[in-house]
Amino acid sequence: MSVHTPAFGGADRWKPRKKRVLIVEDNHLDSALFGALLESQGHEVLKAGNADDGLKLARAEEPDLIIMDVRLPGMSGLEATRTLKAEDATRNIPIIVTSAYGPFADKNELRESGCDAYMPTPIEITGFVDLVHSFLSRIPAKRA
Ligand code: MN
Repeated sequence: MSVHTPAFGGADRWKPRKKRVLIVEDNHLDSALFGALLESQGHEVLKAGNADDGLKLARAEEPDLIIMDVRLPGMSGLEATRTLKAEDATRNIPIIVTSAYGPFADKNELRESGCDAYMPTPIEITGFVDLVHSFLSRIPAKRA
């Protein structure tokens, strides 16, 4: 077995580029799973358990991507998505909406929320990682 040692520049250049991802999810198991998968890809993870906290973190921390559950205590994830997509400071942050309740009876509600993608839960692991990567790889690294 040979071990590849990067030339001058060090190993850091081979690390995934770190992005900041906000998870708005009240289900602790899903939140832990999403967080572990994102951290395994080298990303920084912020978490909120309800929409109000999610909105505050989205405005204050400028995440590169938001994973948004639909059913949250209080304001729904779709309402929170509509709110973020209506504000200049947050409208360009991609939002992946997740829900354990399968295909929406009303797909218009999902579409009209302005979300960028929908992923049913329980997630399929590689599908989740690929979907996240498809959004984060478009964004130049803001943080080393
Ligand atoms: Mn939920």
